[in-house]
Amino acid sequence: MEFLPFFDEADTSSAPVIIAGPCSAETESQVLDTARSLAADGVKYFRAGIWKPRTKPGGFEGVGVEGLSWLARVKSETGMKVATEVAMPAHVEAAIDAGIDMLWIGARTTANPFAMQEVADTISRCNRDIPVLVKNPVSPDLELWIGALQRLYNAGIRHLGAIHRGFSTYGEHVYRNSPRWRIPLELRIRYPHLPIICDPSHIGGKRELIYPLSQEALDIGFNGLIIETHCRPDEAWSDAAQQITPQCLDKIRHELIIRNKPLQPESLSEMRSRIDALDNELLEILAKRMEVSREIGEYKLSHGIPVIQSHRFGNLLASRIDTAASMGMGDEFVRNLFSVIHAESVRMQIKPKN
Ligand code: PEP
Ligand code: MN
Repeated sequence: MEFLPFFDEADTSSAPVIIAGPCSAETESQVLDTARSLAADGVKYFRAGIWKPRTKPGGFEGVGVEGLSWLARVKSETGMKVATEVAMPAHVEAAIDAGIDMLWIGARTTANPFAMQEVADTISRCNRDIPVLVKNPVSPDLELWIGALQRLYNAGIRHLGAIHRGFSTYGEHVYRNSPRWRIPLELRIRYPHLPIICDPSHIGGKRELIYPLSQEALDIGFNGLIIETHCRPDEAWSDAAQQITPQCLDKIRHELIIRNKPLQPESLSEMRSRIDALDNELLEILAKRMEVSREIGEYKLSHGIPVIQSHRFGNLLASRIDTAASMGMGDEFVRNLFSVIHAESVRMQIKPKN
């Protein structure tokens, strides 16, 4: 997938893009009060949910189309670009008619290929140049996330970005939605030009986690942050525990450390050649280990001994974990490493000549 630049004004290489605004548009004055403070602090992108996908019926499900005119006012009064969530063709049509600048797809919609296809086709018909951000699906399924992006791409939408909002897990945890950073990192590796925005509000679920999660995201190299911001967060009609005031957002923005120095490849070349040499040594040692495994396999075969000896791997692993711990390496890493090495040894002992 070849993407076009997502944020036309903002250069994400020098400063992260900040998208801020309430979880939900509640009243015209709440939207405008919040937006005016954010605009005065230099925020360029305003978010507000107009249609809210609530887990259970009975909660506040958004103000609906009426709120679109409030966003249009934010746009004309403050000059900020305005964004909202769309989940159905009717949302797309109404949002684009009202002049909304940017759309996002919520986590529950990303997880539904039928809804995604309908939304993609409708955006394509109404305005395929509008930027669209796709939140990760609620479950930790990278392919489903990519599939949603592909449906938009195949419909001709090229200004695409992703939002990492964490993944649901059962039970009580520190995070509302577990970050599982490896998943957005894998997305970055597969699509290096796709902007990825972090949503620390929905990952953390609590105000105090917004700053550390934002710093973590920027340190990893995300292109921006989407942060739920409300003029009176304690009174918010949805997600009150995770919304912060515009003043608090401004403080966080000033405290965040932005690492935007370009990498000079020469500065790392000596360390990188040490890594290359060590990797070669590792491969040589592994090849020697495999040779011994093969000999063991032949011995077992010629003496009628089965390949798998039930306690051997458990004992081996326990001892390797102990040794590695004394060298400062974590047990999960060592467990994974030796599981792969052992599986290959077993494979070779079953077919010692291959
Ligand atoms: C939101 O951004 O307010 C929202 C509903 O998010 P998510 O789809 O990530 O739950
Ligand atoms: Mn929310």
